[in-house]
Order: sequence, then C-alpha cells, then structure tokens
Amino acid sequence: TAGAAGTTPRDGLPTLAVYKLASCDGCQLTLLNCEDELLALAGQVRIGYFPEATRAVLPGPYDLALVEGSVTTAADAERVREIRAASRHLVAIGACATAGGIQALRNFADVAEFRAAVYARPEQIDALAGSTPVSDHVKVDFELRGCPVDRGQLLEVVTAFLAGRKPGIPDHSVCFA
Ligand code: SF4
Repeated sequence: TAGAAGTTPRDGLPTLAVYKLASCDGCQLTLLNCEDELLALAGQVRIGYFPEATRAVLPGPYDLALVEGSVTTAADAERVREIRAASRHLVAIGACATAGGIQALRNFADVAEFRAAVYARPEQIDALAGSTPVSDHVKVDFELRGCPVDRGQLLEVVTAFLAGRKPGIPDHSVCFA
C-alpha cells in the first residue's frame, strides 16, 4: 500500500518512502549502493516505506516519496494516485518514471498483438495500451532523469528535499513546489 494517512513520527525527523512501479529496480539499487552516504543520512531521516531495504513500515503521510518505474497497468495508475495522496513531495526517479522507459516502445505498437504472441492466456494479462511517466497521472515535484539515475544527483535530490531547499541540478518536471 502507499501508506495509510496518519501522522509523521513524533521524533520530528522527516520520512522517506521509496516505491516501485514497472521498472528493473536499477534506480533503487543506485540508492541502496550509497551505503556510506545513507549512513550519514540515517540520523536525519526515517525510512517510512522501502520494501527493497526494510520490512519496517511507518504510517504516512511521508515527507518525500521517490517513485521508480512507469505506469503500465490500471493498478499502477491507482497506486500512483495513492502514493501522491500519501506524500508531501513526490520525486520521479529514472527514465521509466520520467519518460515511460524502454517499455514505452509498446506505445508505438499494438499491445493486444504482443499479449497474444507472448502469453498462453492473453485475456488474463491486465496491461494498459501504453507505458507512461508518473507525471501523466499525478503532480510531480521533481523529475530526475537517467537510466539508472546518477548516484550523486540522487543524493542531492534526497538531501535537498529533506532540508527544504531546491536541488542544485536541472529539474525536468513541470514545476517545483
Ligand atoms: Fe531500471 Fe533504467 Fe528504469 Fe531505472 S530508469 S528502473 S535503471 S530501466
């Protein structure tokens, strides 16, 4: 789930959530590979939701949500709306989340044809006609491009949002709030 509405932890630390839609996990792995930097951040942030890193879940809403992956199913579309509702700031990370990713190649083909060619029971596959970026579905506060995202830029975005300042790198989203 995107995290139930509630209060942030009473220790006053900002909360971070990391979500995955249709993606290869590479951008999340970039974050996980920032071990030293994450340790430095550890005293300044609480991980509210990050299934790739921990089973612990804190109640939302979260101060910052990082979203990896594109929207390719009706369930993804619903989930990204839930994520937006549970997040003060939402940052789309990587080419999948900001542009639809390699899976957006299907946008130029007939998905029904692909389904019939690949699956024994195509009628059981729930897939939208296209793969779309997060910003096609909800307001995005910042878009970080790359495949995968650059480690230094990712840390800058996380640090900046948690500190309440604008990241010192180009923003490809429609606006910054
Ligand atoms: Fe993987 Fe690239 Fe998508 Fe990141 S942008 S999740 S590395 S395919």
